[in-house]
Amino acid sequence: MANNNEDNKDFDIMAKTLIWDALSGLKYSYAPYSNFKVSAALLTTSGKVYTGCNIENAAFSPGMCAERVAFAKAISSGEKGFEAIAIVGGMKGRGTQMVFPCGVCRQVMEEFCEPENFKIITATSAEKYDVYTLDELLPYGFGPHTLSGK
Ligand code: ZN
Repeated sequence: MANNNEDNKDFDIMAKTLIWDALSGLKYSYAPYSNFKVSAALLTTSGKVYTGCNIENAAFSPGMCAERVAFAKAISSGEKGFEAIAIVGGMKGRGTQMVFPCGVCRQVMEEFCEPENFKIITATSAEKYDVYTLDELLPYGFGPHTLSGK
């Protein structure tokens, strides 16, 4: 039991750190059309954190979600393993509501993360957050395991 509490305490410190990183990245969000700003902080298994913000576009389709921006930064820097991502956002750049990854971002996570282990932290502040596994948010996901017949 003591070990569990220690694990919970370590997770809580990690989650709060990621949430702070995500909250501090909200100022970079480029969302002139929706005004719905999102920021994400992605923790790799090597212990590095890559942040991302949503980047809208006048033509809409080229817009990018914060989560995929963080993944693109990490993967293009050579990262291959991921532990957790914190996501914050809301109207006018404040973390006013729990923000969940869209379906496309969940699919990107399925490509690079272990669905039963990767943690998705949605938060309005470091004190108020919820944690889900990718498996909970994308059950029966289509991933590399599918193509290998497993
Ligand atoms: Zn998305």
